[in-house]
Amino acid sequence: MQDKISQIKKEYLEKIGKASSLKELDSLFLALFGKKGEIALLPKEFPKLSDTERRKIGPAFNAVKQELEKAIEKKREEVREESYKALENEKLTLQGVPLEARKGHLHLATQFKKEIIDLFNKLGFYQFDAPHVEWDKYNFEYLNIPKDHPSRDMWDTLYVDTSRLEVEPGQMLLRTHTSNFWPRLMEKGKAPIRAMSFDRCFRYEAIDARHSHTFNQFEVAVVGEKITMANLKFLSDYLLKAILGKEAKSRFRPKYYPFVEPGVGIDCLCVFCHGRGCKICSGTGWFEIAGAGMIHPNVFKSTDLDPKKYTGLAWGFGPDRMLMIKHEIEDIRYFLEGDLKFLQEY
Ligand SMILES: [Zn+2]
Repeated sequence: MQDKISQIKKEYLEKIGKASSLKELDSLFLALFGKKGEIALLPKEFPKLSDTERRKIGPAFNAVKQELEKAIEKKREEVREESYKALENEKLTLQGVPLEARKGHLHLATQFKKEIIDLFNKLGFYQFDAPHVEWDKYNFEYLNIPKDHPSRDMWDTLYVDTSRLEVEPGQMLLRTHTSNFWPRLMEKGKAPIRAMSFDRCFRYEAIDARHSHTFNQFEVAVVGEKITMANLKFLSDYLLKAILGKEAKSRFRPKYYPFVEPGVGIDCLCVFCHGRGCKICSGTGWFEIAGAGMIHPNVFKSTDLDPKKYTGLAWGFGPDRMLMIKHEIEDIRYFLEGDLKFLQEY
């Protein structure tokens, strides 16, 4: 009996020493202490022993039993330690996805906004953003576009349903241009003004490749003494050269806008054909990029500013269109959609 116990001890201590997984240790434990385990079955043979033998075997059996249990438990700890270490090493050596590949960036329109705002900051312009949901008076009336005036047809306006508010119908709208910012500034009655706004506007437009219900406008307004068309010409060339290169040139054409007098449409010499005529400029050598003019004296009426003392200019263009020309983007809808292919390209 004593030999058998020693044999089991020797055999299993060796097996336990060689085991390398918890699963192996579990089966060794079962082989020893399970229902039919070698250690578990041993006491059944005790009754066959003489009293003297039993007295000796008892403590020896218990000692071996405890030793094997402890050996298994100790080995379990070791195996666990090993697997933690392996896991840690794996973490260190596992190849990650390069950060660069997943890094986001500013939207093309936002990059452009930053560029232009920086440009005009250098000339002393400050940003003044007016509300998107606007009163009719700032969007139209103060801009020399009275109610029922035919020039209102120039803008397809989205009106806000005010039936639940104590507001007369047709008084609240989504602004159709960024021009609402300058009557808001002028009514404060302080001059000089040298402000700009790069922001969203909204119109009731059917969406296609060149039109959208939501688009950006960049607009500047200058009010002060001795402000003239020459300042307007300077600002136009300043912007165009900065964005399209030194060769960029602008030309003015007379154009009607109710809030300016005189009003001009500003064309830019086609940067692709240098005026010879190509597909992008529809063969004309020029493309229209902005509308501008000297602020109409009627606009001054709603302010405390004296139009005899002060004059002003206002000048706005569509940055989305400018970007489409610069990057040959064919569809304005890309600006509002979250198409990753487009977003990652710019
Ligand atoms: Zn051209």
